[in-house]
Amino acid sequence: MSLQGTYDPQNIFAQIIRGDAPCYTLYEDEDVLAFLDLFPQSYGHSLVIPKRSAARNILDVDPEALCKVMRVVQRLTAVLVEELQPDGVQVAQFNGAPAGQTVFHLHMHIVPRYSGQGLAIHAAQKGDPLELEKLQARLLQRLNG
Ligand code: 5GP
Repeated sequence: MSLQGTYDPQNIFAQIIRGDAPCYTLYEDEDVLAFLDLFPQSYGHSLVIPKRSAARNILDVDPEALCKVMRVVQRLTAVLVEELQPDGVQVAQFNGAPAGQTVFHLHMHIVPRYSGQGLAIHAAQKGDPLELEKLQARLLQRLNG
């Protein structure tokens, strides 16, 4: 997939927004959804997406929707750092397959990084559902507490 193209409403994040596919939700409002990455690169890897914008990447999205996403990215990054105490945190976003993009609905990655662990940008395996559930509960408590 190149940078150009049409938005596919069947992409997995569009399905999640519609409620047709499940996710471990961390935050949701009218415009923005945040949830755990199903194939986490690290403990706490989260994603933040616009809900009402059919944007494939940063070139497509309208600035207002992007601002709303970034507000949530900043808040969730703070919560992840407070709760999980990583040694660093990566906020990343890929545009086009050659840049590493695999899902073509704009999304921001928040990846807590821990000293001694690698910096892989794609994880090889799915997270353990029980672990993801526990992590979701822990983060929700911090977010809403
Ligand atoms: P990209 O490589 O496009 O920047 O990131 C897409 C991300 O979506 C990857 O980190 C991948 O693990 C994650 N992902 C793919 N399918 C699903 C899914 O069904 N649910 C969730 N929560 N994350 C997914």
